Amino acid sequence: MKPVIIRSLSELRKLTAQWVRRDESIGLVPTMGALHAGHLSLAKAARDACDRVIVTIFVNPKQFNNPEDLENYPRTEHDDAEKLAPLEVDAIYVPDGEQMYPKEFATNVSVAGLTDVLCGAHRPGHFDGVATIVAKLFLQSGANQAFFGEKDFQQLQVVRRMARDLDIPISVVGCPTIREDDGLAMSSRNLNLSDDARKTAATLQQVMQDVAAGLRTGKAMGKLRPTALARLKEAGFGDIDYLDLRAMDDLGELDTPERPARLFAAAYLDDVRLIDNIAI
Ligand code: AMP
Repeated sequence: MKPVIIRSLSELRKLTAQWVRRDESIGLVPTMGALHAGHLSLAKAARDACDRVIVTIFVNPKQFNNPEDLENYPRTEHDDAEKLAPLEVDAIYVPDGEQMYPKEFATNVSVAGLTDVLCGAHRPGHFDGVATIVAKLFLQSGANQAFFGEKDFQQLQVVRRMARDLDIPISVVGCPTIREDDGLAMSSRNLNLSDDARKTAATLQQVMQDVAAGLRTGKAMGKLRPTALARLKEAGFGDIDYLDLRAMDDLGELDTPERPARLFAAAYLDDVRLIDNIAI
């Protein structure tokens, strides 16, 4: 059955009220659209875990710190609906800007600490935008579980913290990163890469795997970083925002993986900002 497309909060609440009356559990998959296999894996995880599934599509202006990035962000609503149709998603919620940020909207949800580092340090206001919109989607949908990709690991931790701190009764589930055959993490932004840059993009994951292998043999991040950065530059990457080893729970910086850790990277290629992370 084709998922119903919902554009207003009142319609969404009407639908979810029926489900709640029948004691059906609700899974939520927040996205910004331009759906790929990574997003679809979240919808499948929701389908497996919950009675009802809502996928949301909203290109959230509040989380873009660069107006050009917002303008260039791919928008493919028709194709997105087609991709979700075979997955037995119940509803696609596509609110407009006015629905999410009505005139005089004045509230900001800000998670301290976790957002000081990595993308938080390089994209001012980004995680406030994420935390604010996700808090709204959690409260609007009344979902029991929400599904997020580990591809955006810092975002996953920020959203978990926000839901806990605000006592929103939802469990936040992290799902593995889905990759292209050459290892590149799937991302809607990959659509903005030229053919040449698309080929180069996989180098990011190769370099990260090599750093991970070095860390596993006991080498320190401080020793491995310079070679890794040089390889990325040589491959054609522009600014590299970070290549860091960080603790999984509080994202504190590490030189060796003495506690559960992940390797995080963000780098520009063709003016497209690519991010990735892997468990060590
Ligand atoms: P976005 O539309 O990019 O805001 O992403 C929506 C959700 O999909 C977020 O929870 C992302 O972490 C997740 N996601 C994006 N890319 C991938 C991927 N390659 N694998 C798994 N999840 C992903």
